[in-house]
Amino acid sequence: MKVCIIGAGVSGLACALTLEKYGLKPDIYEQFDHCGERTPFIICILQIMHRPVTDPLLDLSKNYGITLKPINPLTKIIRFSPNKISRTVGQLGYIFEMGPSPRSVTSQLYEMITTPVKFNTVADYKELAAHYDKIIVATGSPYIAKELGLWTDVFRGWVRGAVVSGKFDPCTWFVWFNKKYANNGYAYLGPFNSNTATIVLAAADVKEGELENHWKLFLETEKIVYREEDRFVIEHITGICRPREIGNMIFVGNSAGLMESVFGFGLYNSVVSGVLAAESLVNNKSYEENASFLNEKLHQCNLLRHKLDVFKNKDYDQLLELFNIPPLNKLIYHTNLDILKIYADFSEHISSKI
Ligand SMILES: Cc1cc2nc3c(=O)[nH]c(=O)nc-3n(C[C@H](O)[C@H](O)[C@H](O)COP(=O)(O)OP(=O)(O)OC[C@H]3O[C@@H](n4cnc5c(N)ncnc54)[C@H](O)[C@@H]3O)c2cc1C
Repeated sequence: MKVCIIGAGVSGLACALTLEKYGLKPDIYEQFDHCGERTPFIICILQIMHRPVTDPLLDLSKNYGITLKPINPLTKIIRFSPNKISRTVGQLGYIFEMGPSPRSVTSQLYEMITTPVKFNTVADYKELAAHYDKIIVATGSPYIAKELGLWTDVFRGWVRGAVVSGKFDPCTWFVWFNKKYANNGYAYLGPFNSNTATIVLAAADVKEGELENHWKLFLETEKIVYREEDRFVIEHITGICRPREIGNMIFVGNSAGLMESVFGFGLYNSVVSGVLAAESLVNNKSYEENASFLNEKLHQCNLLRHKLDVFKNKDYDQLLELFNIPPLNKLIYHTNLDILKIYADFSEHISSKI
């Protein structure tokens, strides 16, 4: 079987690695001269988003054969709304680096594969269709699915990010919610180490040209004065892609609508979808069916996203107040209750009564 993968990012490399395990060597096309993003930035896996899975990293290793090394555990989250602050401490997840560094997720995956990547090659799925039995679309963006009429947007915006220097706790994550600069989005700070961090503003419903003003307003409002060492701007779109398998094409990762719409978490689903696409090909099973269990969590996130979209700043204040009630904070973070599912069931129950 002749298989090609468009995109040597997280999902494409996870797919390539799994195909290799089954003895298949795909052709891997990557538009840039390296795997992964050009600018380094920090992301996290938050355990609460993956329940009932207790340890998402162990799950990836045990059930999908992909062992990733985080740069640090995530042990503290500090949230800010316009008038409130809340904190949670404990084993909350993992912090990862993205980008060109050897310890980034994409570099780790690239080190694991033996198939050479065809760098500096912008692949056109229409041209490749005639030459391959299967094409894995792992481009990290919705544009092929959009062109084929498979995509519906859920969250649209732009990300302005920066690498900053200062003093940081390497295991602490900061999140800000404020309509003034983020609209329905959010901002976060994630540390590389004790003297470098990424700050990201994901501003919803803004045009690229408006982003810099939102960024300045964010820094000014939150009195953030770190020195900017590097910067990046990325379009941020999450959405629903159906079907994810059409003709001889299989969509994985972000290009399959597998980045969730609340905070843009997509690492876990990108790895899982890459592995499942490869296994479906090798075992001649339906990828659509094999990956369908991911839909439930995405749907729960979409319901929460719709709720957040009508939040006002006072609602963020109230939400943070709830996190400040110790038994509630404990219930949410220190049990394995599937909070997203509970929220989704509750919200669907209420709307069915209206
Ligand atoms: C600022 C930011 C913060 C994030 N924070 C988090 C977080 O905290 N937690 C989390 O879980 N996730 C987070 N994510 C999302 C996560 O990084 C993505 O979900 C994941 O990397 C997506 O993997 P992918 O394989 O779909 O796409 P990517 O990793 O983006 O890979 C796509 C690859 O395809 C290549 N490509 C595209 N088109 C072509 C073409 N035509 N020909 C050849 N190559 C092509 C690209 O160059 C790229 O290398 C964040 C993302 C960003 C940008």
